[in-house]
Amino acid sequence: MSILIKGCNVLDETQPDGYASNQNILIEGNRISKITHERVSEKGVDRVLEGQDRLAIPGFVNAHTHSPENFPKATKEKLPLELWLQDLFLIGGYSPRDIYLAAMLGAMEMLKTGTTSVLDHLWMGDGLAPEGLDAAMQAYADSGIRGGVAPLIENDDQVMQAAAAVRPNLQPLLDNHESMSASEYIELLDGFFSKWHRAEDGRLLCFAGPSGFQWCSDELLQGSLDVARRHGGGWHMHLVETKVQAMVCFELYGKSATAAMKERGLLGPEVSLAHSVWLDDADLDTLAESNSRVVHNPASNLRIGSGFAPIIEMLERGITVALGTDGSASSDNQIMFDAMKLAALIHNLRSTDHRRWPSSRDVVRMATANGAAALGMEGDLGELRPGKLADIVLLDTKTLLFTPFNDAFRHLCYAENGSSVHSVIVDGRLVVEGGRVLTANEETIAEEARDAWQRMYRELPGLREKTEPLVREFELYQQEMMNRDFYLNRY
Ligand SMILES: [Zn+2]
Repeated sequence: MSILIKGCNVLDETQPDGYASNQNILIEGNRISKITHERVSEKGVDRVLEGQDRLAIPGFVNAHTHSPENFPKATKEKLPLELWLQDLFLIGGYSPRDIYLAAMLGAMEMLKTGTTSVLDHLWMGDGLAPEGLDAAMQAYADSGIRGGVAPLIENDDQVMQAAAAVRPNLQPLLDNHESMSASEYIELLDGFFSKWHRAEDGRLLCFAGPSGFQWCSDELLQGSLDVARRHGGGWHMHLVETKVQAMVCFELYGKSATAAMKERGLLGPEVSLAHSVWLDDADLDTLAESNSRVVHNPASNLRIGSGFAPIIEMLERGITVALGTDGSASSDNQIMFDAMKLAALIHNLRSTDHRRWPSSRDVVRMATANGAAALGMEGDLGELRPGKLADIVLLDTKTLLFTPFNDAFRHLCYAENGSSVHSVIVDGRLVVEGGRVLTANEETIAEEARDAWQRMYRELPGLREKTEPLVREFELYQQEMMNRDFYLNRY
């Protein structure tokens, strides 16, 4: 299969307005073979796309999300992470079909708004099972998006243990939480990698996905990293998202989670760490030295009040910072343009020295090349250059948001919201054209998803009522911790 995009503008950092005009892009197989101002013969080309009034950009990488949350979007508010989690996990009972539908919803939403790759940190309501993992992978195979799945695993909730130690009434919240053993998880993960890693000509990827340092045993952390390394895959985890998590880690280990991870050999270029909010300067030095990757999720950090991740300090240290939407239960959509706009704006409030603020070029790099690095595809993806994989988004520059068309990077960060996305190519295949998904029937998937969610959503009020007293007790613990002094402040 070959595609020629004729006479488009191509995003280019080296150009004064951020793009090179009147370029022809030739795609052969799944890679870009040519980008040139010179005429390219249409002879033997399977598909020609007109590029006039189009801006070609590398497709975005959503480097952290949770696809099952594509159902419970807009279901809660005014909750910090600890209480938000209690509400989120009330709903169990995702069947493999539900997992498929939720992943498909997200994949379609992302493709239509210019995201061509996703790292899905996949939790499942009633526990991890191979059928659910297969369902998510099948959704990514069918939708045509470049999909990485990190099954979310956890077996040791040290935050709840700390809470129950001072508030014994919380013991039922610990007892309710059954999990698989570390060795069972590791066996499951090994089978998952063997079946799916680099399937669909390399378009599907597997990751190990421990939920967080404070939620997993050492055996699970180390064992899952060993599986990922053995299969040449990545290891993806949430790293200290909240003040409570940071304080619990300090109480338990006498040092930060990042310092404890360093001691255990849990850092490196194959490691990507979502959030990384409550890190101090020494922690940031540790991440930089180990070449570990960070995934920033500004919408979620704001929505559930976790704090400001020290992104300015990370960029100044040369840490590879990627960008994610996080799950829609904490950010409400999967639109990377929203994540970019927030990332480009919120850190301006963290330094009175405006010269330190992230630039639109920094932020677009976070959403593209740095996202590729978080997927372990550094150098292969995230830029429009001959030899790179052909994941390309064409934006219509005749829309109101692009009128008049000035600097391409600034339009992408500050003005555009995804509505100008016209066509999308992933791995050399056209998957969105004229704003419509070509790989799936959006209406029927959406209808089935509405029905599936309706069944689950009906149960929510009853479940909330039942757990209310325990949640109120946990809220007291959470508030006590939040009101305590701590050496670090990320608000
Ligand atoms: Zn997350």
